[in-house]
Amino acid sequence: MDRLEEYAKVEDVPIIQKEGLEFLVNFIKENKVLSILEIGTAIGYSAINMALINEKIKVVTIERDMNMYNEALKNIQDFNLSKQIKVINADALEVNIEDKFDLIFIDGAKAQYIKFFEKYENNLNDKGFIICDNLNFHGLTENPELIKSKNLRALVTKINKFKDYLKNNNNYKTIFYNIGDGISVSRKKQ
Ligand code: SAM
Repeated sequence: MDRLEEYAKVEDVPIIQKEGLEFLVNFIKENKVLSILEIGTAIGYSAINMALINEKIKVVTIERDMNMYNEALKNIQDFNLSKQIKVINADALEVNIEDKFDLIFIDGAKAQYIKFFEKYENNLNDKGFIICDNLNFHGLTENPELIKSKNLRALVTKINKFKDYLKNNNNYKTIFYNIGDGISVSRKKQ
């Protein structure tokens, strides 16, 4: 795992922060999650960590970038997890997945979070959860007016819109955690 963390650091690949990963892993254990759909594989770091929890866990993960996809496949093979993790090389907004999952982990392009949520909630089991990462976006979401770059400000505004969307979504109960880079856990109201 150290090798993957080192690779991510050197190659500047954004992977889930240690604290966020710890939260995610504990959450999966506590809630006995067995099937996971991940949007945004990168090099397979979070998918590998989730699959390593126990061998009954199956992960489907979607990555649009071909280089990341290839790197993820290599890493998953190295960990002998090819039977537990299926990587799909596609844009998550263009591919259709039939299966239903206990957990959907959204960690793709931050500007698209509402679209990911609306598309993939159809793939959620009735008692399932949707977890999203990077909702604090390095602490910038609290003070978007202080951001000088126009593009970055637009992105942070979109993340804040997504947070409002979750808060106002009456079909789900969402809890926000100030852990790692900011994590939300949404559960369908029964
Ligand atoms: N989940 C990974 C981890 O913690 O190890 C990190 C994922 S990284 C933050 C986001 C990844 O999502 C990038 O590799 C990017 O190419 C991919 N991505 C962004 N938008 C996507 C989309 N629409 N469809 C598929 N992949 C996407």
